[in-house]
Amino acid sequence: MRVWSIPMRTRFRGITVREGVLFQDPDTGRWGEWSPFLDYDPAVSEPWLRCAEEAAAGDWPEPLRASVPVNVTVPAVGPQAAYDVVRRGGCRTAKVKVAEPGQTLADDLARVEAVRDALGPEGRVRVDANGGWPVEEAVAAVRALDRAAGGLEYVEQPCASVEDLARVRRRVDVPVAADESIRRAADPYRVRDLEAADIAVLKVQPLGGVRACLRIAEDIGLPVVVSSALESSVGIAAGVALAAALPELPHACGLATVQLLTDDVTVDPLLPVDGALPVRLPTVDPAALDRLSADPERVAAWEARLAAVRAVRQDRRS
Ligand SMILES: [Mg+2]
Repeated sequence: MRVWSIPMRTRFRGITVREGVLFQDPDTGRWGEWSPFLDYDPAVSEPWLRCAEEAAAGDWPEPLRASVPVNVTVPAVGPQAAYDVVRRGGCRTAKVKVAEPGQTLADDLARVEAVRDALGPEGRVRVDANGGWPVEEAVAAVRALDRAAGGLEYVEQPCASVEDLARVRRRVDVPVAADESIRRAADPYRVRDLEAADIAVLKVQPLGGVRACLRIAEDIGLPVVVSSALESSVGIAAGVALAAALPELPHACGLATVQLLTDDVTVDPLLPVDGALPVRLPTVDPAALDRLSADPERVAAWEARLAAVRAVRQDRRS
């Protein structure tokens, strides 16, 4: 077990340093990543561990494609900066953050127009409100943003609750994607049953691994966008494995996030080339594991987390 600690380029989810654990399976030689956010309790962190174990065991389904298209993410910046992010990103799909606290719809409209300019008419623009709007505001904003973008691919998590997602979805023509509404394995079924979304954003660690997500995707019958939990390239490879194994992949995935970290644990990080990630296993770099090794007290903290997750499993069995 190796605990790594990597500073982020920009603050995200209130964190400035990302931490996680890599495990190597002595039989397969393969690595798995376990990196539940630090505020997650043992029960919530347990499926994240299943994802790491599956990866280290090499127990992934056969890929159906050789590369996975990904989106560039545009933070809640001004129009010129948004334009530059998209031009630099080299992706054909852009996800634009909207509904940022302290900003107005006019800010969002200007950003989305700049992104459309940067992408050209063939590119796809999606917006992500991170649950930031009440229902009425969401309906008005989605309609206005759809016009400003010359057509939105979808709106991600316009409101916080599943019930409100369903309300917005019934009133707008733009497809709705559920992201924050899907955090535990039961959540996708609730989204489906309430007809709250047209698209499900799935993340392999919180949902218990690649095969678990494939089953969920099949059960719920919604198009899936595979997204990251800000992993290192080892963790991103699991998301890529899911995206590569889905029978259909109509939308670009949110897996181009390794560049949000200042370093990586591999010699060949999973970074996009021409708007897509290659479907391959990155090679763990022993020198990087030394360079990025967490302090002893953080290692002890992760060992305690791991013991707590194993205790949860023991409780469930008995
Ligand atoms: Mg999102």
